[in-house]
Formats: sequence, structure tokens, C-alpha cells
Amino acid sequence: MRLHRFQHHSSAAAIIKQFFLVPDENGKAPSTMLKKIRKKGYWAYVDVPNEESEECIVHFWHRADAPIERVATMIAHELGHIADGGPHPELGQGEEDRADEYAQATSETFSLLLHLGLINLIPPKVASIKIQID
Ligand SMILES: [Zn+2]
Repeated sequence: MRLHRFQHHSSAAAIIKQFFLVPDENGKAPSTMLKKIRKKGYWAYVDVPNEESEECIVHFWHRADAPIERVATMIAHELGHIADGGPHPELGQGEEDRADEYAQATSETFSLLLHLGLINLIPPKVASIKIQID
């Protein structure tokens, strides 16, 4: 695994803003991506080293009520991209398949731990009651 750190973004808009600091993003409109990401409720990508830094950064965002298993699986996918000295764009779809194997391993691990009763995947409740303080 390459040297890396994580950046947890506070909003979908914040992670999109960071993402589009990097040029060459296939001409995707930020507003279109933002809508998709908000609808999904979680998203991540990995910045790879450049002239300025040898470090990879896994950027991620999720709604407070996003299923934690999905969040972990998404992060594992991004870590898969930087495993074995990656990313390896020369692999084409193989690069995505490799990352998906990391995600699959994480998903299976969550399933096992859930089955054993070692974790509880009930998502945190989003505030649904209002408390009035006089
Ligand atoms: Zn990927």
C-alpha cells in the first residue's frame, strides 16, 4: 500500500470542490456530479502523488445516515487503487476490478462480523425530534 492519508469532507459540495481542483476530469460538470453524489449519499476518490507530493489522499464524504458498511466498502475500493504501487491505468478495467476486490473483501468482512454479532449496522438516527430549550 502506498503512503496515504485520509481527508473526510463535511459536505458533498466540499468534496466536489476538491475533486475539480484536479484537471482532466473527463469534462464532467461539477453540478451534475454533485446531484448524483448527494442522491447516492456517499462518495470517495483518491488523489495520487504528483510533483508536489509523494502522498496519496483518500477523499471521502457521506451523509450522517449513510450505511457504514457502504462507506467502508467505498473507502476500501479507493485503497485498492493504491495497493501494489497503484494506480495502474495500463490495466484498464483490470484496475477497477482490482479495486472492487478490496471493496468485496471489506463487504464480506462486515457481513461476517454482523453474522457473528460483533457489530451492529443500524445507521445512526438523523435528528427527527426537536428539543425546545427555554
Ligand atoms: Zn475505482
